[in-house]
Amino acid sequence: MIVLAKTVHTSIDLTGAGLHSGQTVHLRIHPEREGHGIRFIRTDLPGSRAIHSRDVDRNCPPFRTALKNGSAEVHTIEHLFSALAALSITDCTIEIDGAEIPGMDGSALNFVKAIQHAGIESGASQTVVPITIRERILIQDGPASVEALPHDGLKISYTLDYPGHPLAQGTYDFTFSEAAYIRDIAPARTFAIRPEAEKMLAAGFGKGANTQNTVIVDGNTAIDTQLRFPNEPVRHKILDLIGDLYVLGRPLHAHVIARFSGHRTNRLLALNLMENMPS
Ligand SMILES: [Zn+2]
Repeated sequence: MIVLAKTVHTSIDLTGAGLHSGQTVHLRIHPEREGHGIRFIRTDLPGSRAIHSRDVDRNCPPFRTALKNGSAEVHTIEHLFSALAALSITDCTIEIDGAEIPGMDGSALNFVKAIQHAGIESGASQTVVPITIRERILIQDGPASVEALPHDGLKISYTLDYPGHPLAQGTYDFTFSEAAYIRDIAPARTFAIRPEAEKMLAAGFGKGANTQNTVIVDGNTAIDTQLRFPNEPVRHKILDLIGDLYVLGRPLHAHVIARFSGHRTNRLLALNLMENMPS
């Protein structure tokens, strides 16, 4: 299968507050030549190094995925990266004047719409080699696990099971296509079960979160919001997984089976895949 490199047709501007920091930042996504990859520039840190999608911060704080190169960091990249993965954007520079990507509505929808509005340009010559799985990879991380099996295309099966919270339970099987992602995954907002949300706030995280951009799960209901899907939380887990794995910067052909996995476990799979991938 031939996959062409893709970039955005024109620059994209987005402004919003980070879900954890609450800090309002401005980000600008620029078109780039084929082979450039996805890189961030912290415009508020003059002279800092560019941060490549593969510069995964192995020790990043909880509830997010972060990249780091020297003193330059960028946090909570997963929803933006999920949109970039779904729209097959392989090359762009993302300028940001702060440390955390805007949370927008808590999903990937605003990023998808902004990229679609700017337009997508295919490269003329360079092809992108998808990452394929030769044999099963299993990452076991306490009760969480994520495994990758050989598969033609991308399929994700995710199982969520928060005891006492039926809204955050169940399995969802998603076979990737751009259209299916935009319809079934992109609108799913981030979530937290109520006791964890309270702990998270007490620990100083979630300063930019509210009941509209974060589904607060309480048993079988969501607090103070209308759900976009009856199983919005498990769909968001798939959104996160796609974003977390896109630090690889290229399409993944695999059947990924995840149980209770979060950013840390997803990151361990991405790092495992990265070790064996040609740069
Ligand atoms: Zn998320």
